[in-house]
Amino acid sequence: MYKGKKNSRFLKLPFNPVERAREVERIVMHNGKRKYYRFRYTRYYGGIVTADTVGCDLLCAYCWNYFKNLHPERYGEFYSPEEVAERLLKIARAKNCYLFRISGAEPILGKDSAKHVARVIASTSGEFILETNGLMFGYSPELVDLFVGLNVVVRVTVKGWDEESFEKITGAKGEFFHYQLEALEVLAEKGIPFWVAVMYDVFGEEGVETLRNKLPVPCRVEYEHLETYPFVLENLKKRGIILRD
Ligand code: SF4
Repeated sequence: MYKGKKNSRFLKLPFNPVERAREVERIVMHNGKRKYYRFRYTRYYGGIVTADTVGCDLLCAYCWNYFKNLHPERYGEFYSPEEVAERLLKIARAKNCYLFRISGAEPILGKDSAKHVARVIASTSGEFILETNGLMFGYSPELVDLFVGLNVVVRVTVKGWDEESFEKITGAKGEFFHYQLEALEVLAEKGIPFWVAVMYDVFGEEGVETLRNKLPVPCRVEYEHLETYPFVLENLKKRGIILRD
């Protein structure tokens, strides 16, 4: 079976996340199919049916799926949008839960992956929470058009309060931080409901306040908390990130 192209380039920090998005999309997408490694029901959002994928344009120090996103070529099998929807709906019927999401990685890496996600959403009956870091929505606003009219709410996880914190947290060049904020503007313009999530243990009150003052549109800010796996603590230490009280 086709396993995807090799993640050839050594990932040197800080990297260009748009180039990384293109490279990763080439690995995790093949003929409209995307790599997934698990389908499950989880307790988040009061219960949600979840498809776990691999491959991200960022490499956050606190990513719970760090190793799979560092080496997306090693994990998962390819599924078409219809195959993903079928798997999700089977779990939904068993659990009587019609709330869906894709987790584990970044769903939106470029046009191919965005089209794939839009088709998954259109093929599932129920509400979809699109969890994204928003960077590629900010960089290529036309990708947002694919989601207009779908039953979707977008949760944008903003990864810093300025360029410096973004670079430390994500491993990507700080100059790309503004695309996350621009994504919010585009979503608002196109009438797609969304909210922002931040990692409170890393941001602290000061980071959250600094970010709030930069938000281009008013929106709810959700606080996430760290999963303190040993590798997460090690990654944070290596990047010089200090946890807030
Ligand atoms: S954006 Fe999300 S999926 Fe990507 S590396 Fe960061 S935490 Fe992981």
